[in-house]
Amino acid sequence: MSVLTDKLADRESCSICPALRKTLSVPLRIFLSPSAKLSLTGQKLFHGISKIMQQKLYLCTVFLCTLYIYYILTMIDKINALLQEVEAMTAANAEELEALRIKYLSKKGAINELMADFRSVPAELKKEVGMKLNELKTKAQEKIATLKEAFESQDTGMDELDLTRTAYPIELGTRHPLTLVKNEIIDIFARMGFNIADGPEVEDDLHVYTKLNFAADHPARDMQDTFFVEVNPEDVTKNIILRSHTSSVQVRTMEHTQPPIRVICPGRVYRNEAISYRAHCFFHQVEGLYIDKGVSFTDLKQVLLLFAQEMFGSDTKIRLRPSYFPFTEPSAEMDISCNICGGKGCPFCKGTGWVEILGCGMVDPNVLEACGIDSKIYSGYAFGMGIERITNLKYQVKDLRMFSENDTRFLREFESAY
Ligand SMILES: [Zn+2]
Repeated sequence: MSVLTDKLADRESCSICPALRKTLSVPLRIFLSPSAKLSLTGQKLFHGISKIMQQKLYLCTVFLCTLYIYYILTMIDKINALLQEVEAMTAANAEELEALRIKYLSKKGAINELMADFRSVPAELKKEVGMKLNELKTKAQEKIATLKEAFESQDTGMDELDLTRTAYPIELGTRHPLTLVKNEIIDIFARMGFNIADGPEVEDDLHVYTKLNFAADHPARDMQDTFFVEVNPEDVTKNIILRSHTSSVQVRTMEHTQPPIRVICPGRVYRNEAISYRAHCFFHQVEGLYIDKGVSFTDLKQVLLLFAQEMFGSDTKIRLRPSYFPFTEPSAEMDISCNICGGKGCPFCKGTGWVEILGCGMVDPNVLEACGIDSKIYSGYAFGMGIERITNLKYQVKDLRMFSENDTRFLREFESAY
């Protein structure tokens, strides 16, 4: 050993502690080569290192350096052992897999611990140890990803197995009865040349009442219990309200269009009424408006008769009774012959043989003028009906509340009507 150390006295300094050598000022080095007579520990050390590196390593005999290299070798052993572990890794379920991930790949996992140790590996060994460490990390990531994939494809099969589901792949919903009837009404009037007009549900008083000939203090305003969003005590026309009828859409149409006007206005309206089987705080309307030169009450009656026969059957009769609305003059309520008893009288029509379905009349000249249409040249008619009312007549729904309860048993009854 001493011959060897002497021969190598002028070789490079210790791979680990050049500083220490200087301090000791004795050139004590061991050149680790196969010919060197090494102790058992030294041989083990050498083989371990030569396995991982092709280059030569110089070590001083300072005990700490040997110990240090031993520590590095232990690290390589650890990497090799972990590599074997990772290759053999299996997990029975997702929880086990997550535990494995935490054990190897988490912040405090085995691989990260080795990464921290890697900082103290001497420069000569960094490349080899680094490659080994990277191999371990990649293998662990790949293995966990593969296992995860296998679980996911397996899990989807298990979790989504719903034995209560229908054997049919797609369950179609149904159209709401009110939508069915609304579409039917639109369809009938569209065939007679009416277009659809739309407007806001939150409106100002001007469009809902004032321009429709409701004077600011007129009791007719009380006919419709209104929801107020914003009240302006100085100027009622500036009140912001939820529209109580879709006539506001008619006003907006007249404001922006010159006759001929032929529109229907379907939409939701709101009234402050106690909710019961026959009243709700919101419902749906379809209103119609026709303005042109020489429009008469006869035109109105004919259009409504055609509508009633298209909607309820060709033998349906209509009758008009005088009524009052601020925005029409003359005004009328229209009844149709009861389609349940055929006009003989039943509990539904209260024995009269007639049921009321809508209100109508000739547009009041004041309304035309308020909306910028010359009432001396043009005249027109308007009508309005509740979609709930028409739906009740068509399908005999006893309780109005069922329309907004979203009970699928009720809604499914309209499957065949779709
Ligand atoms: Zn009847």
